[in-house]
Amino acid sequence: MSVRDTTILDRKDLRYLLIDSLRLYSDNVAFIDGNNPYRFSINKKTYYVLIKNVHESGDGRGNQDECRIQVAKTQNFNDALNSGNDVIVLGYFADEKVFTAWNPFMMRDRFNQKQTISLYSRFSVQKLAKTQKIAAYRDNNGQSVISFIPDYLGLYLESLNSIHLLKDEELMKLVEQSDNLNNDNADGEFDTTEGILTITHARQKRDPNFRRKVYDAYNNKCAMCGIGLELIEAAHIVPHSHDLGTDEIDNGISLCALHHTAYDRSLIYFDEQLEILINESKMEYLEKVGLDSGIRKFEKLAFDKIQLPENHTLRPNIGNIKIANQTRGIFNE
Ligand SMILES: [Zn+2]
Repeated sequence: MSVRDTTILDRKDLRYLLIDSLRLYSDNVAFIDGNNPYRFSINKKTYYVLIKNVHESGDGRGNQDECRIQVAKTQNFNDALNSGNDVIVLGYFADEKVFTAWNPFMMRDRFNQKQTISLYSRFSVQKLAKTQKIAAYRDNNGQSVISFIPDYLGLYLESLNSIHLLKDEELMKLVEQSDNLNNDNADGEFDTTEGILTITHARQKRDPNFRRKVYDAYNNKCAMCGIGLELIEAAHIVPHSHDLGTDEIDNGISLCALHHTAYDRSLIYFDEQLEILINESKMEYLEKVGLDSGIRKFEKLAFDKIQLPENHTLRPNIGNIKIANQTRGIFNE
């Protein structure tokens, strides 16, 4: 058996991986709750996603190319299965940075029936997916097990009803259509139906008055670090894509470009006492995947507390702060 030097991501890491991957596809992503399976919404539709690291199949199966995930019986599944939302099982292979998905409609009846179920694919298919973006392995029953790069996790979810029925060349075409939609249109909304495929990329329209109100209330300075310099942006506390993500001043805060992105990526946040906190579990995840360059410099770049407008009616609503941290996958763990 070959030994692979594989980065093993733990549960929390995999949750950040899911959020970051979905954001490659849509701005409109929110983490809701759950503990593997996790509940997410993308473009207002809700899914449960169970995610596991992909492993070699273990001794005795004789095929070096075979890999698998194992899904143990768990109470966590019952809420998901009873919710009426789609429940998806994903494998992640860190060596190639590729997801693998098994047809959720074929598996509904298998979950929780045995102590552990094993789901198989092939390392070679994951390698292929890395180079050509998407690839499928067909098992003994002719079922497609689809591997794809993280950019297409959102596309996979939105195409769930038909994607496992597609032939290889149709899968390639689906990815190509999605890329074309992204390239053709930097803004606006799309809803394209071609044959059995539907691709929706939704973006929100912004209220220009929101920006002005926020800039004025915060004196054109970042509430986390104090930088102005025309680097500030009007950030939504509850994201604009969320039902409660209003353009009211109590859902806004002025942040510099760095802190705005860092806030939306869950690197930094503020709690209900208005303390500014580094999200350590996200930082640990970024260290594991080798994206932690500049971390010390970044950590030094914020006040202890958020700097707020003196006028209390212009300050963030505490309830919004709570929802905001949840949708960004931040918990006080
Ligand atoms: Zn700042």
